Amino acid sequence: MPAVPMYPLRFQPILRRLIWGGRRLGTVLHKPIGSESDYAESWELADYHEQVSVVEDGSLAGSRIRELIRNRGCELLGKAIAPCDQFPLLVKFIDAHENLSVQVHPNDEQGRRLANDSGKTETWVILDTMPGSLIYAGLKRVVGPDEFAQAIRSGAVEPLLHRFEPRPGDSILIEAGTMHAIGAGVLLAEFQEMSDATFRVYDWGRLGSDGKPRPLHIREALESIDFKRGPVNPIVPEKEPIPGGTRERLARSPYFALERLSLNGPTCVGTLDRFTIVMGLNGSCDVEHDNECVRLDFGQTLLLPAALGQCVVTPRGAATVLTCVVP
Ligand SMILES: [Zn+2]
Repeated sequence: MPAVPMYPLRFQPILRRLIWGGRRLGTVLHKPIGSESDYAESWELADYHEQVSVVEDGSLAGSRIRELIRNRGCELLGKAIAPCDQFPLLVKFIDAHENLSVQVHPNDEQGRRLANDSGKTETWVILDTMPGSLIYAGLKRVVGPDEFAQAIRSGAVEPLLHRFEPRPGDSILIEAGTMHAIGAGVLLAEFQEMSDATFRVYDWGRLGSDGKPRPLHIREALESIDFKRGPVNPIVPEKEPIPGGTRERLARSPYFALERLSLNGPTCVGTLDRFTIVMGLNGSCDVEHDNECVRLDFGQTLLLPAALGQCVVTPRGAATVLTCVVP
């Protein structure tokens, strides 16, 4: 029996509740949250231990991304990426109703050694903020490991961190080794290596859901922090004309390359040699391949399998989408 043809794939969101979460994954992004007040993350594309994305609709509905990679890896990922035994990126929405912990992620070598995991370079695109919301990213000035360790012990890490007030649309690259925290009120999209290696150094003096402080990982953090990583600010992209609108190149790393397309007419997205992730940032689009047409609304994510080659993205009116490839 011939395999079902590939088409733009939508996956069921995997919702995660954490003490700092809120309600906007439901109220703003229309994810199927319950009545609780601590919805923190919507994993849009994941292949991490038990958290594996499942196709939501179409003829592959119910298929897990892990099996699709195993059985149809080249069609899905493309010959530039396959073979791979795990989907290489984790894509999330994050609703920081309260501050996230002050944390650092290891690089790939440190991640393997300290956390039995990959390293984690991540990038954020800000969707919404509240008055006074802050992003902490990088060190304000050169700080040595001893001074930093002392600041951790005395709970005085925050004054050492660079911070700014983010605005919707800001794109920020957090390379492994960069101290950072997402501040209260920020709603963002995150693209990162498929890893959960996080070393917490400060948790704002609060208690976890069990009434105890959440653990810190000071030794691992001190090994992972890049003490030369000074202030990190949003990327300032330039708009280039493309068919149907404009394109801005956002964060780029060895793991991902993001572009923002502002569209008022059709444009082509996708290539035969690698998969493309498309996320709706504003408005609605139709994503078409052959006779298959899939709608992409604000807050939704599609995976365009490499085998599709180019898809035509047509905005309904005006729309903004984010694209992400593994370079
Ligand atoms: Zn992080």
